[in-house]
Formats: sequence, C-alpha cells, structure tokens
Amino acid sequence: MNKEQIAESNRKYYEKNKEIISDRSKRYYQDNKERICEHVRIYRELNKQKISDLNKRYREEHEEQLRVKKKKYYLEHKEQRAKYLEENKDRISEYQKIYFEEHGDVYKERRTDYNKKYRETHKDRVAISNKMWLDKNPEYKSLHCKKRRARMSETICNLTELDVINIKVFGCLVCGSYDDLAIAHDIPVIRGGDTTIENCFCLCRSCNSSMSTKTLEEWKPVLVPQKFSQSIFLGI
Ligand SMILES: [Zn+2]
Repeated sequence: MNKEQIAESNRKYYEKNKEIISDRSKRYYQDNKERICEHVRIYRELNKQKISDLNKRYREEHEEQLRVKKKKYYLEHKEQRAKYLEENKDRISEYQKIYFEEHGDVYKERRTDYNKKYRETHKDRVAISNKMWLDKNPEYKSLHCKKRRARMSETICNLTELDVINIKVFGCLVCGSYDDLAIAHDIPVIRGGDTTIENCFCLCRSCNSSMSTKTLEEWKPVLVPQKFSQSIFLGI
C-alpha cells in the first residue's frame, strides 16, 4: 500500500467508526485531563513565540471572516454582554486599571495607530460625526470657533468678497460640483497658511473633508478637465 492508499483507508475507517473514536477520545481526555492540561501548558510555555506568530498569521489571513463572525456574535449576545458588564462593573474597572498600569504605553501606541488609520480611511464619516458632536456640544463648538479665529488672527487674511466670488465661479476644484461650496486653503490655516487669493480655492464639502489638513501637493487629487485654467492659476 502506498501513502495515498493508507490515507484513504484511514479516512474510510474513521468515517465508519466516527462515534466509537469520538467516544474513546472523550473518555481518554476525561481520564487524563490533568496530564493533558499540564502537557498543553508546558507546550504553550515553550512555544510562546511560535503560537503567537501562528495566531497573528491566522488573524491576518482571516481578517474579513473574523470581523463578520465577531459582529454576528456581538449582535447575538448584545443583551448578555450588557448584563455581564453591568454585573461585573467593579471587577472590570479594577482589571482595566491594572492592565493600563502594566500595558498603558503599548495600548496607547496601538490605539493611536488604529485611530490614525481609521481617520485616513473614513474621512467623510469622521467629518460628519465631528460636526454632529460639535452640534450636540455647543460649549465646545464655540471653543472650536475661538481656536480657529485665534489661528486665523496669526495669519494673513485679506480675501475680499470679490475674491470669494471669483474663486467660487469655478465650482469645486476637484470634482466640479457647485453644491455646498467652501473656501479651502492650499496650506491649511492650522499649518500657518494665509487666507489670501494665492492660497485659497474652492472645494465642495466632500472634497474639503477628503483634503483634511493636507496641502494640494500632499493630497494629489484627480482634477476634472474643466478645472484646468484654475489649476494653472494655482500652479498645480
Ligand atoms: Zn468636490
């Protein structure tokens, strides 16, 4: 018998005797539980790095399936989860305190990376939720406006009404839309950019939030052909 034939006959034997084998395995596990647990514990201890690498690789290769599974589980166990969290509030908060003391730096770094990646890939969603949050928290909204005004006061702001009309005549520089137009800055005000005709142009709300705090050169948008004249004017 060659290798394949042996494998095939093993498979057939297993199919035929599935229940007996399963019962035998269960019994063996029950009878030797402590010994097996100890063996597993030692194996894990000796192969920490290998197991961690394997787990990492599995998570990377099955990212989408795991995400779907996690979401499904979360939705199916929402109530139990809320109940558990409520019942173990003190214990969890104590555990979190100890965990942060021990792993604070790593956690913070991982969280910052994740947040950065999320903000970059969900710009529109972040802009909408920021706006909603500011609408719900007017005290912060005025603070936000104050900060922006303070930044503006440190930069040159000499855009006239006529300049604004001239800029808006072109519509959104990137997509050509005329909806919800705003004056955008090539070098953002937050980075010291001036509100002058040389530094300003027009973007719709969606393109404006995609541009975020980047310059045009960093953002590299795809321009629509009819915006060509304005692009030349802006030197991009
Ligand atoms: Zn646009």
